[in-house]
Amino acid sequence: MDLVIRGATVYDGTGGAPSAADVGVTGERIEAVGDLSAERAGVEVDGAGLALAPGFIDVHSHDDFAVFLLPEMDFKVAQGVTTDVVGNCGLGAAPFESAQSYLSFFAADRHRDSLPGWDTYGEYLDAVDADPPSLNVAALVGHGTVRLDAMGNERRPPREAELARMLDTLAEGLDAGCVGYSTGLVYEPGRYSATDELMSLARDMARVGGLYASHMRNESDGLLEAVTETIRIGEEAGVPVQISHHKASSPSAWGLVKDSLALIDAAQARGVDVTADQYPYRAGSTSLFAVLQNIEEGTAGFGTVAWSNHLLASAPRHTDWEGQSLTDLAAGFGVEPLEAARRIVDAEGEGAVVVIESMCEDDVRTVMAHPSTMIGSDGIPTLGGKPHPRLYGTFARVLGHYARDVRTLSLQEAVHRMTGLPAGKFALAHRGNIRPGAFADLVLFDPGTIDDIATYESPRQHPTGIAMVWVNGTVVVRDGSHTGTRPGHALRRAG
Ligand SMILES: [Zn+2]
Repeated sequence: MDLVIRGATVYDGTGGAPSAADVGVTGERIEAVGDLSAERAGVEVDGAGLALAPGFIDVHSHDDFAVFLLPEMDFKVAQGVTTDVVGNCGLGAAPFESAQSYLSFFAADRHRDSLPGWDTYGEYLDAVDADPPSLNVAALVGHGTVRLDAMGNERRPPREAELARMLDTLAEGLDAGCVGYSTGLVYEPGRYSATDELMSLARDMARVGGLYASHMRNESDGLLEAVTETIRIGEEAGVPVQISHHKASSPSAWGLVKDSLALIDAAQARGVDVTADQYPYRAGSTSLFAVLQNIEEGTAGFGTVAWSNHLLASAPRHTDWEGQSLTDLAAGFGVEPLEAARRIVDAEGEGAVVVIESMCEDDVRTVMAHPSTMIGSDGIPTLGGKPHPRLYGTFARVLGHYARDVRTLSLQEAVHRMTGLPAGKFALAHRGNIRPGAFADLVLFDPGTIDDIATYESPRQHPTGIAMVWVNGTVVVRDGSHTGTRPGHALRRAG
């Protein structure tokens, strides 16, 4: 064996009770789990007093470009994340000509030349394998990107030929191993698509069984209608459903998650495979352009939240604005907050990213306690500014603050929600569990000290309590430091 981790308390990812065991690794895979005291290994790690879990799977990431621009992916692997699912919220990696239109959202538009060339989803996944990051990458086809490619930013249904082109692009991605397709129905151009368009794509996807992941049309007063539409698409098309960042946004909608969870329970009872993901914070983060558009066009997808609760997280051309609330910025400009938002969008375009305190703590805990909820950071890997701390802290915050301190869920359940549960849902073969034959994506951590320390003021801080992280059997984090290795793979949907 190449590696034996001795005497850790093993949380195997199934959600079952943990047990003390040795874990032996040969090459990229776990070879044995149990009493390995008779075995000698090239590397011996003492896990006594620590927890050993499968590497965490971030089912809701936006790291499509970051895996090339920031290939060590320190902000993820330092939390124990060993697999990213990219392409969420309708923002896919291909076709590249369309995808690059939102490089500015990540303050990365000046780094376009640093990206390897790709056109299709298959080429994107191949590019990941050719120059791998430190973690594994699975991809969703992004509906918005596909629609933009087929018909531009048109505010109408697709014509027959346009829909045919969308279906072709989706099929290319799915055949190349993408795990499903995502929508972002508050964003351009996804917001211009009706249910039947989304249904057409989902029906086509049913032949391979990829999942439908949706940032829904409304996460506020219209939450229940939006959840109903999302479940209906999966149910009628016959594909699994993933509700993205399940929440009730804005005070008037608080409490609605009890009803949206009941809709999930009822759908599951009918046999629909519907689950959700969540980031463990009361604030969200998104494009200020999108927030403004939803207000001005009356779609209210984000609900109504006081401008004082909007913090400008990223403004690459005016970094002195970063970290200020919209009301403070408005006072500085001498205008009303709505007008300030318009000015900022005019000056920054999609580069203006806001953090919005829009949820209540009861709802965050209610959603997290529900067995349908996986963990997804929704981190925005901006190259500048003050990103929402979820980019750095999500997984440690669930394990430390919510599982250990607040006891919203047990530690074994929390581990399951970030490992075995998502691996099954996203069809990531031989991932998400500690058992012989599985890939050796592993996290060794101290359950007593694990904590997120990233804050809104100072977000770029790695969590405490993570001792070691392995990806495909290679150590990428040791004592909180990145080893510089980049052993990730592109993960293609299993069968
Ligand atoms: Zn989203």
